[in-house]
Amino acid sequence: MNELSKNSLAIVMRNGVEIWLEEERVNTIMTALAMGAGSKFIKINGEFINTADIIGAFMPATMEANIRRKNGQWQCRIAGTWHDRKEKCDCRDPLKITEQEKYRRTFYAEKGFYPL
Ligand SMILES: [Zn+2]
Repeated sequence: MNELSKNSLAIVMRNGVEIWLEEERVNTIMTALAMGAGSKFIKINGEFINTADIIGAFMPATMEANIRRKNGQWQCRIAGTWHDRKEKCDCRDPLKITEQEKYRRTFYAEKGFYPL
């Protein structure tokens, strides 16, 4: 996940392997696959991928949300904030919302997308 940039997508394989690529390259690959039929191998960064094992191509925010859910976190509807499994949601606290908004803006300025 340290190669995250706003223009990267992860091609996710059934075995959990993530192949992070520039959005343009992912578009080219996935469009070609959508037009073809059956299972075949494609070469990505020197590796050969069985296209039948591709689950999909996902944006960084989707990947991050998936990791958080796997780690037991949940997202509240009040502020869209992620909470730990046993954490109580107190997002109505205006001070906390201000803090979160600051964090969201900083995060967006740095990465180009909002945290989940
Ligand atoms: Zn909350």
